[in-house]
Order: sequence, then structure tokens, then C-alpha cells
Amino acid sequence: MRQFKLFFAILITFAFNGCQTGPKKGEVTKIDASNIENFCLLHDVSVTPEGLLLKNPSSSITTQFNVRNFELTARLKTTSEAEGLLIFAATNAASTADGYEVRINNSDYRTGNLQKTGSLSRIRNNFVRTVVDDQWFTLGVTVLRNHIKVTVNEKTISEYDEPVNRVRASDISGRILTEGRVVIRRSNGNGELLLEGLTIKPFKDLPADQPIQANSDSLMKIVDLLNEQEFPLIDFHTHLKGGLTIDQAIKHAQTIGCNYGVAANCGLKFPVTNDSTLNVYYHTISQEPVFKGMQCEGREWITLFSPQVIAQFDYIFTDAMTWTDLKGRRMRLWIPEETFIDDEQKFMDMLVGKIEAELSQEPVDIHANPTYLPAKLAPDYDRLWTPERMDRVIKVLKENDVALEINARFRLPSIAFIQRAKAAGVKFSLGTNNGSNNDLGRVEYCLKAITEAGLTKTDMFIPRPANDKKVLKSGLPSKITG
Ligand SMILES: [Zn+2]
Repeated sequence: MRQFKLFFAILITFAFNGCQTGPKKGEVTKIDASNIENFCLLHDVSVTPEGLLLKNPSSSITTQFNVRNFELTARLKTTSEAEGLLIFAATNAASTADGYEVRINNSDYRTGNLQKTGSLSRIRNNFVRTVVDDQWFTLGVTVLRNHIKVTVNEKTISEYDEPVNRVRASDISGRILTEGRVVIRRSNGNGELLLEGLTIKPFKDLPADQPIQANSDSLMKIVDLLNEQEFPLIDFHTHLKGGLTIDQAIKHAQTIGCNYGVAANCGLKFPVTNDSTLNVYYHTISQEPVFKGMQCEGREWITLFSPQVIAQFDYIFTDAMTWTDLKGRRMRLWIPEETFIDDEQKFMDMLVGKIEAELSQEPVDIHANPTYLPAKLAPDYDRLWTPERMDRVIKVLKENDVALEINARFRLPSIAFIQRAKAAGVKFSLGTNNGSNNDLGRVEYCLKAITEAGLTKTDMFIPRPANDKKVLKSGLPSKITG
């Protein structure tokens, strides 16, 4: 009996680790339906003219060989909100807590898992949808020493350096780079996941790893924790200004551990003033792994753009920093010469009234730069933003399903305001509102507010799906709101 057990143990060990037939180091090996059984164990997978079909929740493909440093591509397609995972560094196929997971999910926003294709799950999440269902795409994973890079159609989606003294929640303690198998499996029961083929190139043996010290920076610890909690750490308010390129913005977002929404400034006397310039802007960023935003400037924007063009964007937002007072003076509150405060109390009541008119009539998703006051009044912020005024703004946000931006640049609104809005069930977004290429920062005030107000992932704004855009449902107001 004992001998039998030993024989069995050797057999299992051989099946898992005896990768005599594995891909050669330094060479690219192509694996498809014709040869996959030489390399992988298939469970509940069928061969179709389109490729290997993972139809059921239990369907999986597991390599019979182990790899440590490698470059891999998988040609994949999802249908009808199918979701899956590509797992690597897996040492125990039976455990779902083992190995790093890359998400495969191309469902629309607010549908299925928040994380979309290319997300290095719970380590560096991706919430941006770069592929849609029924479309073939290439998912790439490269592991080189401590560095992990995930690409979708050759665009970098997630990058991460695994530190030596990493700290992980207990349920993902197995997310550690090691010699392990690659697994592709389903993670929900919707639709189908198809694999046309894989390429894998194990790298030749490398000199011993250079340990990377963990970043002990307190901000990065918060960012790591929020990623673990699948908190949608998305800065929806960045601009390609002051020479900042889209590639630089994406790289910066990946370095600080969050996702970006990039917005054009659209309105009177702005670079984008009509449908054709708005279309041009949209197409310059449409293929980039960022959320696509439109910042609606001034109150005249509703007369300049049409709903169909606006609805291409993932989300639209506006602030209450530009409006016309009762004496007909068009004010831009950040410019002292253009701001007229005859009486501070009357000014505040007028400001709150403008916010109410704007957010109840303009079909925006986010109220940006909220509670901003002109420089003359800003020192008295806490006195002027009385509970009654806060509650009027909170009410109009809630009634019109508008998210409240937590603004990193102006450090607005106050923590007290955020706590009050959270208690009322308002959703939040994060926004930097950078003015150039050197002030993107690390969403410091947003991280402080998330921590101090105890915000969780369900408190956060996620863009509406394509069939639920406010501007398509309610149209644009017929008259300027303020
Ligand atoms: Zn802005």
C-alpha cells in the first residue's frame, strides 16, 4: 500500500512538474488546437472552427509545464458578457488563491465585474474597457524577474514590480512570482470564451534576481490596499495640457497605481467648440487605455454640441465656476477681475442656486471642482458653506444622479462635506484637474478623503453603459441654465 502511494505521488508530481515537453527557452512556441494537448491539460474544452471553446463555468486550460520568466500572448474572444482569467505563477491548480490573475472581461460599464480585460487583479486593477465582446484581441503577459507587464492589443494596461517584502491580504497571499503553470479559465457562466491560440517564449536562464525594496511610502501603501479591495481608483479629471502627452499620462497613472480619465475642455472660447472639433478630439484618444471624458465649460456648452457626439464619451462633467449673475455679468470665479461679490451671503445663495439649476438640467455625470469659492471668499469656506447650503447641493446631486468630484488640486470639497454627502448616498469620483504636464500629482487629497470619510468601492462613480447615457435619455436643455 505504501509503495502504491509512493508510485502515485511520483506520477502526480510528474504530471504537474515533469515538463519534459515544455516550450524551449529562448524560443517562441505556438500552441493552438492542433497541438495543445501536447502542452496543456484541457478540462471541459471543445474544438470549434473558430478555436478552443471554453463554454462552461468549469472550463479550463492548464499548461503541463512551468515557467518563471516569459513572454506570452493569447488570442481571445468573448461573447455575451463572458468573463475569464489568465493565471500565471500558479503552483497549485486546485487553489484559486494561487498565482497572479489577469482579468478577461469586455462587458459594458456597470455590467459584470468592475475590472476589465488586462486588469492585474487586486494588484494593479484596470477598469477601462479597451475591447468589446465579439472582437478578437491579443492579451499579452511578460514576466521578467520582479517585473510584470500586461498588454491588450499591444497597449500596456498594467505594470507592476513585485517588491521583496510584499504585504498581501490573506486570500491573495499566493500572488507571488515563482516557477508555475499558466491557466486560462472561466470566471462566470455568461456567454463563451474562445482561444484561437497561444504563443509562449520562456526566457533563457537569468542571473539571480536583484531584490527590489518595497516602496515604504505611505501613499503607496494606501494605493496597494485600495487595489486589493478592488476600489475603483480612477482619476476622471486629467487634461492633456502644457505638453502632457497621452503616453506620459498613461505611464504616470500606472506608476501611481490608478487609472485615468482624460477630458477635453469643451465650450465657448475653448479649443473644442463644436461637433467637428469634439469628434477630432475623441478619435485622437479613442484607442487609448483611458476613460474618455468631456469637460463642459461655461453654461453655453449646451448650445454647441449635439447629443450623439457627446454620447460617444464615457462620461461628461462640469463645474460651477462660470456663470452669469443677476446683473448680467458673466463671471469666471477663478479670475478676480471677473468676479463680483456685492454681498457675500447673497453671492453664496446665488452660487447654490446656479449649482441647483445646472445639475438639475444639464445631463452631466460628475460635478467637478465642487464648492469652489473665489479667492476673496475661500478663507471663510467653512463659515460660508453652511449645513443648509451643503444639503441643497447634496440634494440636487442625489436627485439627478450626479457624482461629486473629490478634487485633488483644490482639495475640495471639505471632508465634512464629503461625509455628509456619503451619508446621503451620493456617489463620488476622483479628479486632479491638472493644469500642465508637471502637476498630475498622486491624488493625495483624494486618498486622504477616501481614508477619512471611509469611502468604499460601492460609493464610487462608474461611467454609464452606452445605452444609458443621460444626454441621450433627457437631451440638452433648451435654455442656458445660468
Ligand atoms: Zn478641468
